[in-house]
Amino acid sequence: MGHDPEMEIDSLWNEYGEVFREFDDLTLARWMAQTLGQLRGRVWRLSHPLVGCYRLAARTANERQVWLKRLVVVPADYPESACCRAPVLPLLTRDVLQCGLGCLHCDGTAVPLDELPPDLLPMITDWAEQYEKVHAVAHWDQAQQSSVADYDQEFDAAAEKAEELLSLAGRVLAPRLLELYPAVVWEDQDECLEVQPEDIKL
Ligand SMILES: [Zn+2]
Ligand SMILES: [Zn+2]
Repeated sequence: MGHDPEMEIDSLWNEYGEVFREFDDLTLARWMAQTLGQLRGRVWRLSHPLVGCYRLAARTANERQVWLKRLVVVPADYPESACCRAPVLPLLTRDVLQCGLGCLHCDGTAVPLDELPPDLLPMITDWAEQYEKVHAVAHWDQAQQSSVADYDQEFDAAAEKAEELLSLAGRVLAPRLLELYPAVVWEDQDECLEVQPEDIKL
């Protein structure tokens, strides 16, 4: 069998998540409520270890529908998300045009695009459209690749541009979203363009 990197990462996360699967529902809900309190008031890189931990807990909580059981009091300013009724912790990704702001709990849509305020929507749309063009370079077919003198150079230039745009998401867009939500997470990598979190300077 060949390697499927996505499946391998998934199985690794599954292994990491074991610690939370051993929690009972109440312990898990308390841990998450406390962590939401600590996440509040800041924008977070998706690669931040605390966000990673929260996401692992959120997976298990989602599987067991912990939020529907109302076991704990959620920190007051977190609204309930429509997708899975977990507290809203929006995730800004390059897929925002197609998927809106993502949900860290169920991987669904925490905030549909058309629910963003009119002053913010054009900024985010414009950013995502720019990003889409840059990202597309990673998926050029053979014909497109041979239409330029040096595809490697084209790829590197696209990766560099992606770093800039992701930095903009972290510096400008996520803080604007933080005016609307208690905490915001932004995706700080691009696996297709080989951009790693450490490449994105704020
Ligand atoms: Zn959700
Ligand atoms: Zn891609």
